Amino acid sequence: MRRWNGWGDEAHAYVVPARAVQALQAWVGPPAPPRDATLPEALAGVPESRLPHAPFLSFDPEQRLRHARGQSLPDWVALRSGRVGAFPDAVAFPASSDDVRALLAWAARSGARLIPYGGGTSVAGHVNPDPQLRPTVTVDMSRLSRLIELDEVSRLARFGAGVLGPDLEAHLRARSLTLGHFPQSFEQSTLGGWIATRSSGQQSLLYGRMERLFAGGRVETPRGPLELPVFPASAAGPDLRELVLGSEGRLGFITEATVRVSPAPAREEFVGVFFPDWAHGLAAARTIAQARLPLSLVRLSAPEEARTMLTLAGHERLLGALEAWMRLRGAGDEKALLLLGASGTAAVVRFALGEGLSLAKQHGGLSAGRTFGAQWTKNRFRAPYLRNALWELGYAVDTLETAAPWSAVPAVLSRVEAALRGGLQRCGERAHVFTHLSHVYSDGSSIYTTYLFRLAPTPDETLERWRTLKERASEAIVAAKGTISHQHGVGVDHAPYLKAEKGELGMAALGRALSGFDPEGLMNPGKLLGAAR
Ligand SMILES: Cc1cc2nc3c(=O)[nH]c(=O)nc-3n(C[C@H](O)[C@H](O)[C@H](O)COP(=O)(O)OP(=O)(O)OC[C@H]3O[C@@H](n4cnc5c(N)ncnc54)[C@H](O)[C@@H]3O)c2cc1C
Repeated sequence: MRRWNGWGDEAHAYVVPARAVQALQAWVGPPAPPRDATLPEALAGVPESRLPHAPFLSFDPEQRLRHARGQSLPDWVALRSGRVGAFPDAVAFPASSDDVRALLAWAARSGARLIPYGGGTSVAGHVNPDPQLRPTVTVDMSRLSRLIELDEVSRLARFGAGVLGPDLEAHLRARSLTLGHFPQSFEQSTLGGWIATRSSGQQSLLYGRMERLFAGGRVETPRGPLELPVFPASAAGPDLRELVLGSEGRLGFITEATVRVSPAPAREEFVGVFFPDWAHGLAAARTIAQARLPLSLVRLSAPEEARTMLTLAGHERLLGALEAWMRLRGAGDEKALLLLGASGTAAVVRFALGEGLSLAKQHGGLSAGRTFGAQWTKNRFRAPYLRNALWELGYAVDTLETAAPWSAVPAVLSRVEAALRGGLQRCGERAHVFTHLSHVYSDGSSIYTTYLFRLAPTPDETLERWRTLKERASEAIVAAKGTISHQHGVGVDHAPYLKAEKGELGMAALGRALSGFDPEGLMNPGKLLGAAR
């Protein structure tokens, strides 16, 4: 059963090792475990629906609670404290494009607002109803999840857009195929959500981001269906898929999507390489990215992250052995950890890793073999469960991400980290901050920063701590000319910063384009462009 107030399946827990508990206290101070609301307490706060009965709507309080929030830190504070604020007035579960069209027609008549809901893993407030607005129906897309068509010759697969990551992969693996899209939220996120937020999977270096994987499909908009035919390439004017990618539920419902699939890899390997310091690691990551090798993963942890992740995973013995091994080879305390991954035939994997390791060596890298790669593979979808355990101890964890050209990466990274590290000084608190580069390109890289701080005595104060940190870091990103999001999207949390990137004219054009499909503003008001139209 899915947790109603945290990450993942209730059956899975993450036990924080004793040494990691000590380290957490040293980083930010001793915690005070929160008293979380129980499910019955949270359900007691679900108000009367403002909508009249209709056979296609569920008014079940638990469904309304479970669809009220996503996975951002403000969402966690709301759910864990039982002070959820705004709820959908009802939840709908359409099973076909026809059902979705009927819902749109009903919304046009009744004036209700509609929020498309995939897996609810948004970390930027994308699926939250706005209490100030008209009655709202959250539309859960999970019943549109079939494999509709598979063209094995062209390697194209058409799915219902509500399909969850594991189900989509299971369909494809049965035919020895893969989409190769593995965001860390893979277990609980959906194809439609990936498209609507321009998602990036961990192995996007090989398979591509959603922009490359999404080949076409069908969107049900308030003005009617938008068909996006599939071509390998087209010069027939602007590509309408670009409007759908990142549309965040503002344009309509993606009901079907065709994606480009690949053969499932015969072999997959991940290796770790240590560098004596961050500068050497950064130069190696850039060189490897620019060599355009057929690698699936190039992921560089800055020294603080390498230390923190090994500590939280309870690998002190491994860490100790590694320290000794690295010291023998002349490295200091500021080691960066690079993970290289390759997927494909045995020959491709051998070639890609061989070339990658040789470039790493030229920059002072010392290969630590497959141990770290195997650890990363084992924990790649487990890590989010740590967030539940840390919260229960009394710590909040959040992440933020951006991307910038290589020449700007050091400045963006240090400005963001400095903003976060000093962010809570005024209230006498500390934030523990660490960063990795998760997706590399020939011209630049994404920058992914995690920050951890103590929960405050009250939910409002915790939220205030988060707001201070988020605002400072977002302002630092904008000032350093990074994008406000490389992969999480805009939602409500990033909306105030979008104009700095798109410009006045760009924002107005985007608003008009969305209005062209949704003149009454029925779809997910307030997201992406800010204040509801
Ligand atoms: C632990 C964790 C790890 C994460 N890791 C990654 C990562 O590695 N890479 C990454 O890119 N993101 C990551 N995310 C963010 C999140 O998982 C992505 O944004 C994901 O694409 C959201 O998919 P979803 O199905 O959960 O969509 P939801 O959260 O349900 O919705 C997101 C937005 O898409 C819209 N939407 C959803 N389905 C449809 C549809 N069918 N038609 C129209 N609009 C729709 C919604 O209205 C909303 O605006 C992570 C989140 C968490 C909590």
